[in-house]
Amino acid sequence: MAAKKLAIVLPAYNEKEVIEKTTAELHKLLNEMVLSDKISAESFILYVDDGSKDNTWALVNALNEKYGNVFGLRFSANFGHQNALIAGMTHLTDTDVDYVVTIDADLQDDPQAIVEMVDLANQGKDIIYGVRNDRTSDTFFKRFTAQSFYKVMSALGVNSIPNHADFRLVNQKVLRAFSAYQEREMFLRGIFPLIGFNEAKVYYARAEREAGETKYPLRKMIKFAATGITSFSISPITFVRNVGLGIFGISILSLIYIVIGWAFGRTSAGWPTLMVSIWMLGGLQLVAIGIIGEYIGKIFLEVKHRPRYIIAEKIGE
Ligand code: UDP
Ligand code: MG
Repeated sequence: MAAKKLAIVLPAYNEKEVIEKTTAELHKLLNEMVLSDKISAESFILYVDDGSKDNTWALVNALNEKYGNVFGLRFSANFGHQNALIAGMTHLTDTDVDYVVTIDADLQDDPQAIVEMVDLANQGKDIIYGVRNDRTSDTFFKRFTAQSFYKVMSALGVNSIPNHADFRLVNQKVLRAFSAYQEREMFLRGIFPLIGFNEAKVYYARAEREAGETKYPLRKMIKFAATGITSFSISPITFVRNVGLGIFGISILSLIYIVIGWAFGRTSAGWPTLMVSIWMLGGLQLVAIGIIGEYIGKIFLEVKHRPRYIIAEKIGE
């Protein structure tokens, strides 16, 4: 069996502080795997520059000259982490690349796990998920929010893999299957488990960011979580409907109570209850409208069918 061709895809947004170190490390790793015959010598690294405002792209060019097996795609603007991953994978679909590994440019996910992933792929696995078994390097806040997110997702019936981010290996078969998923707002972690095939997991400890700072501030994290939930589940709407029905039932009961009281000549001051009901109903209605609006917004985004990203420049094929 001929050794398989591996491509490592890294999204990079303003990563000038880490990109050289990352490349050196991955280049070394690729060489080791080539020498031990796990992958072919044509294996390479592909950066997807997500519209960086620093000199990340200039560095990718320099790295291409230095190593030869480093290539790049540059977006015309910042289209986001998920779209950068999609662009890298789409670019390699139906090519002679056998395996694609996606990993963050800051190497918080242990590159050594790639060796294990490749071994499993060579044994016939199609998707191999990298799963963090130690997040002590993340802040308490990040761990807490991440844990709550996985809990909410699974409570809503979304099949995602806890503690798996976008560090995974997929083979050409999976890439082709993936290309049929065409929604604009993608949440990759929810999509891949749907694709099926033969899957495996590789465990690793998550390290600190090598350099630079997180490109995922709280604001982006919340947006990402909301996308994940509303892209895969309509249970928030169902929940709102059920609460609405419950409240409607209670109001009917109280109406009956009031009418009976009135028939027996009992009139109440009623002011506090009135205020409470108005505020409560008003609030609930706003929440409900908000949730429904969120889904309508999603439909709006999808029907526009805009491109998910625009590639401005390429290095390599
Ligand atoms: N990233 C990107 N576009 C963005 C934000 C982030 O391509 O708009 C990349 C970033 O360069 C990194 C990866 O996505 O390679 C993960 O980002 P980061 O490490 O900042 O997130 P964290 O690990 O803190 O969640
Ligand atoms: Mg990171």
